[in-house]
Parts: sequence; structure tokens; C-alpha cells
Amino acid sequence: MNKTTSQLPVAVIGAGPIGLSAAVHLLDQGYTPIVFEAGDQAGANLARWGHVRMFSPWAYNVDAAAATLLQQQGWNHPLASDFPTGQELLAQYVTPLASHPAIAPHLQLNTQVQSVSRLNHDVLRTGGRNESPFVLRVTGPDGERDVVAQAVIDASGTYQTPNWLGTHGIPALGENAAADAIAYGVPNILGAARDQYVNQSVLVVGGGHSAFNALQDLVVLAEQHEGMRLLWGVRNASVTNVVRSPANDELQERRRLEVRIQELLEQGRIEVFTELEIEAIERHNGQLVVRSGSRTLPPVDRIIAATGFRPNLSLLAEVRTSLDPATQSPTRLAPLIDPNQHSCGSVPEHGLAELSHPEPGLFILGIKSYGRAPTFLLRTGYKQVAAVVTALGSNAMYAAAQASTTAAAPSPATSSCQG
Ligand SMILES: Cc1cc2nc3c(=O)[nH]c(=O)nc-3n(C[C@H](O)[C@H](O)[C@H](O)COP(=O)(O)OP(=O)(O)OC[C@H]3O[C@@H](n4cnc5c(N)ncnc54)[C@H](O)[C@@H]3O)c2cc1C
Repeated sequence: MNKTTSQLPVAVIGAGPIGLSAAVHLLDQGYTPIVFEAGDQAGANLARWGHVRMFSPWAYNVDAAAATLLQQQGWNHPLASDFPTGQELLAQYVTPLASHPAIAPHLQLNTQVQSVSRLNHDVLRTGGRNESPFVLRVTGPDGERDVVAQAVIDASGTYQTPNWLGTHGIPALGENAAADAIAYGVPNILGAARDQYVNQSVLVVGGGHSAFNALQDLVVLAEQHEGMRLLWGVRNASVTNVVRSPANDELQERRRLEVRIQELLEQGRIEVFTELEIEAIERHNGQLVVRSGSRTLPPVDRIIAATGFRPNLSLLAEVRTSLDPATQSPTRLAPLIDPNQHSCGSVPEHGLAELSHPEPGLFILGIKSYGRAPTFLLRTGYKQVAAVVTALGSNAMYAAAQASTTAAAPSPATSSCQG
């Protein structure tokens, strides 16, 4: 990197917890961050699932360097053992951090990054590539413009690109046409979205904790409104293993939720449909009928698709990434997080080597770095940030970029649930 390029800012895409953590670490290392946030507030994705209680405690959810910065302004660390909701994480940590006088001047709200490239280099052109700064096309309140940067940290999350209900990874036949009766993610069933679910029959699809949260809230609503019918569809042959993480799961709140769902199943509050492979969704008499192979499920008024998320890779089409074809995470990170090998968040320590791409200075961090794998924890993301920012511009960064296309050996699957 030449001297002029090394004086440019480092661009951060997304002001979620990880993007803001990156800003703190960059400032600590003497860089100038420029953080682009598509939403009208930092933590815009957290606000979308703010009603959900997190299964990781405050001790895991705050970046140590950010806490030090905040404490200089009189901020008090929330009780380490408490479990915040998404909204509490936003109000008590993310918003104060984004408003901190050291961070706020570097934050550009309502500004969406459309694409990332290298100056005068499309993805095909090699000569002089690594010496060229990055270019980001952004659209903000004043229209579109290009911004140059010496490095790019993409921490834009995955919440806005949910997976489809369709079993083939593409929309089920009729899924788009039924969009008005489908909620993706975790709707606020007991709050803002309540009216949509009262007295309705509802199918929840998915075998993760988002589905558990939705089912738990629907049962509360059904206790107040007789006549609601609750269906739960999973791909597995049985829900026994779906609701049971290893007994040594250190995330007690996750375990508590699983125990609650087991109780509700034993009480017969939820009708379970296993081996669900949704091929089509049809509308009959105003209700939705799901077809899975030769089976059709009972008609429902609404569907909640708690089927996970995928990264939006379109903004990185003009830079050279090395992504695992299955998980869509960086090639060397993939074997550590592949859900085909790991049943819970058992992720070994990882850093620069696993997070690099052939494009030196480009990093995907935070939940987006996990691609389609569902096990990300903030605690891991903060370690990613520290490892990457420390190595920016170093020989180690260039060496890791060169090695980034070589697949790492798969890690032995373990049964412990650590972030
Ligand atoms: C229901 C639910 C419960 C969860 N519970 C936990 C938990 O208990 N513990 C835990 O550690 N994790 C949990 N997670 C995972 C959680 O999403 C992450 O830990 C955390 O939000 C990831 O932070 P992030 O900064 O990587 O991404 P995000 O928080 O998603 O932030 C990404 C930001 O980028 C912005 N953005 C997106 N695209 C662009 C663009 N093109 N240009 C500019 N800005 C853009 C978004 O608006 C957003 O503000 C949970 C997730 C969900 C959905």
C-alpha cells in the first residue's frame, strides 16, 4: 500500500454492534473510520427484533474496548449476568456508543453502500490491484457518490435477507404471491404485530431459537384467545433433538427456552409436522395451504418463516472474495462453523487467517462472516474485529490474503456450545 492510500479512511459497512466495535478499534489503532449505516439509527437490525430476549448475557454482548471508551463518559456496564432484549442492547449499549463524541463524527446514517470495488479495477483486472484504494458507491440523503478507502470492513449483517420457506433454497411455488400473510424472522407477536395473530391459525416453520421464540409468544396469545391453532413445521424426522442442545450448553437462556418448548409440546399445545419440505403454498378460501411432497398441511391464516438468514453478497461482486460454496462464509472459516458438522455454536478461536480474502484489506466480519451458518455470537465478532484491525496493512495481512483460497483442514466436531 502506498503512502497516499495508507492515509485514506477505513470504510465500515453497517453500524451494528460489530461495525461500531470496528470503529472503536480503528480509532484506537490510529485509523480514521467512516461508518455507513443504511438505517436511520445505529443498530437498525437490532431494532427489528428488539422484543426478543437474547440468550447470551451482557458479559458476552459488549466489546471490551468499546466499554472502556463508554466508561470514560460515565457509562455503567449493565449487570454482566443479565440477559438483555435486543431493544435493551440497543438502548443501553449500541445507541450510547454511536452517540459517543469519539464515534458520532465518523457515522453516516441513512447511507447505504451499494457496491465495493477497487479504483480503476473491475474484478477481472489484476495489474497494480493491491496498490489501488477501494471505492465504495454509496447512496445517502444527497444522492449517490463514490468514497475511496484504504480498507473495507463489511459488517452489514444478514437480517434483511431471510431464507425462503421453499425447500429448494428458492421461493416455494406461490410463496411470493402469499407474501402478505408470511412474516420472515421473529415478528413481535405480543406487541406491534399482535393484531395479525389474534384468533388466527398460524404455522411456524424452522428448527432454531427464532422458531422457539415465536411459538412461545403464540402460546401466550392462545391462552388469552380461545380457538387459535398453532402448527410447527420442521425438516427433521423428530423434534426431540431439535429442542435439545447438549446439557453442558453454557448459554443458560438458550437452554431455558428449549425446556419451555419441550413443556409446551408435552402439553399438546402445538401440533408438530416433521420432515417438512415445502414445495408450494396455495391460497384456498383466503387461507394458506402448504404442500410438502404428497402431503398438505391444514390450512392456516398466517405463516412465520423462522428459517434463518443468508448474506447479501451482491455489493461485493466487483471485489475478489474467497467464499465457501456451501456456507458462503470465508473459505478458511467454513470448516469451523459448518452446521453439517456442528450442532451448536462450538466455534474454535479464529482470526486473520480465517477471515481473509484474496483482496488484501477486505474483510467480512460479524454475523455476515458466518454466511448461512446460524451459530454466530457477538463475543466471537468482537474477537474477529480485534484480530483484523491489529493486522491491517501489515505483511501478515498480505500473506493471509494470498493464502485465503486454500481450504483449511476441517476442525474436529465438538459437542460443547461455546461462542
Ligand atoms: C432473534 C435473534 C436473536 C439473536 N440473539 C443473539 C444472542 O443472544 N447473542 C448473540 O450474540 N447474537 C444473537 N443474535 C445474532 C445477532 O444478529 C448478532 O449477534 C448481531 O446483531 C450481529 O451484529 P452485526 O453487527 O454483525 O450485524 P447487525 O446487527 O445485523 O448489523 C448490521 C448493520 O448493517 C446495516 N446495513 C446492512 N446493509 C447495509 C448496507 N448495504 N450499507 C450500509 N449499512 C448496511 C444494517 O442496517 C445494520 O444496522 C440474534 C439474532 C436474532 C435475529
